[in-house]
Amino acid sequence: MTTPVIITVALTGAVPTTADNPAVPVTPRQQIESAVEAFDAGATVCHLHVRDDDERPSSDPDRYQEVREGIAARCPQMVVQFSTGARGRTVEERFSCLAMRPEMASFSTGSVNFPAGIYENPPDVVERIAKEMLDLGIKPEVEVFDLAMLYKAADLHDRGLLATPPHIQLVMGIKNALPPRESLVEFFVTELGELIPGATWTCMATGRHQLEANRWALARGGHVRTGFEDNIYFSKGRLASSNAELVTRAVELCAEFERHPATADETRELLTLQSASSDS
Ligand code: ZN
Repeated sequence: MTTPVIITVALTGAVPTTADNPAVPVTPRQQIESAVEAFDAGATVCHLHVRDDDERPSSDPDRYQEVREGIAARCPQMVVQFSTGARGRTVEERFSCLAMRPEMASFSTGSVNFPAGIYENPPDVVERIAKEMLDLGIKPEVEVFDLAMLYKAADLHDRGLLATPPHIQLVMGIKNALPPRESLVEFFVTELGELIPGATWTCMATGRHQLEANRWALARGGHVRTGFEDNIYFSKGRLASSNAELVTRAVELCAEFERHPATADETRELLTLQSASSDS
């Protein structure tokens, strides 16, 4: 029996545009199509940012709703995770999508420097959002951009403010934050095991380190993330043709580690989400 790997596809992100890679999905229609293809290729969680008509990061609830409904119509088993990150938006704008009660949402438990500014998550906001997500029944994916955020997640967990078991992602490769290093993953996994036994976890890295980070996670029992948000290339000098192409490679990688891509049912069980059929 091999163990399941949840493959998350980060469809679009806040940064890459069609000028960087024409295959990056930026309109709701493109995003829906890309999510369905990624699901067919083996991804079961879709991490979603939406864009405005000029491809800039957006918090427009209509856009979120259009993409969510489009995915649900064609691919009801896909878990849709709204991003509360993204650059160039205020804290209130970023978290406004929680009112739409996504099944999952990303949640950073602290602040960190990004390439051109501060990614701001002050203590009072972290406390408030943790409670709000718990009250609304939204499963967080805790984003650890700096190691202090891991300890804050453990503190929230100890106080009963994170849904159990927490799902935590180590984020590497963002300029001015954590670099992509296997030793960091090792440290993160050891600390996580002591602080929050039973937590599910994933790690991701940007650019050419995306694939390495997948291997580091697979070797240690973690889950993986791929997609255009983190990397627009398939290999050196060759742009990826689609999110599905990147997902397909992640699926193939699972076998090397004697693991298998989680089905949608396995994904919901691991993340303790309701089954798609019982949603109403
Ligand atoms: Zn994101």
